[in-house]
Amino acid sequence: MPSQQPLELDIDEDKRELLANCGALCSGHFTLTSGRHSSYYFQAMRLLEKPVLALGAAESICEQLNDEQIDYVLSPAVGGITWGFAIAQQFPKSTSIFAERIDGKLTLRRGFQIPSGARVMLAEDVVTTGGSLLEVYHIAANAGAKIIGAAVVFDRSGGEFRMDCPIHAFASSRIPSWEPNECPLCRAGVDTETPGSRHLGSAKGKQ
Ligand SMILES: [Zn+2]
Repeated sequence: MPSQQPLELDIDEDKRELLANCGALCSGHFTLTSGRHSSYYFQAMRLLEKPVLALGAAESICEQLNDEQIDYVLSPAVGGITWGFAIAQQFPKSTSIFAERIDGKLTLRRGFQIPSGARVMLAEDVVTTGGSLLEVYHIAANAGAKIIGAAVVFDRSGGEFRMDCPIHAFASSRIPSWEPNECPLCRAGVDTETPGSRHLGSAKGKQ
């Protein structure tokens, strides 16, 4: 039986090259934290650790926003913080804040507050199931904010994840993954690597 070929990613060539060159988008044979196997792995910090790349990606997102006024950019710690700051940089009057996990729940600390009626943009590095984005959405909604949208670096759901505001992704593609016993790369005898195992990377637990 012929083995199933890994799907190509639905990302335009320029972005794909940029993401591959900075090391954010890796192709190979990976064991994800979930235990599933994939031919791609995305580590947003390879892009976000370079201010020129992070700000360039943020600028390209904000070009889609038709001069929306943003008062606050809210991100979930830790992965979203740098990206949220880059997004906030596009809105000169905005304030960049983040929520951090306390007893498992994303919470505003450090005196961060969102006034009722504030126009909020959410920011997250990688979206897979969108759990953290939904949590920050509810933080802003509970504060009485108007949520203008969510800016993400990479949407691994390829647009499948939806919420009650527009999602603006720098790159978006469904990244296929398989249970090990169904993995075409295992069948082809390709060695696996475990991304993030050498680092305490924020991507752990997300992909
Ligand atoms: Zn495999």
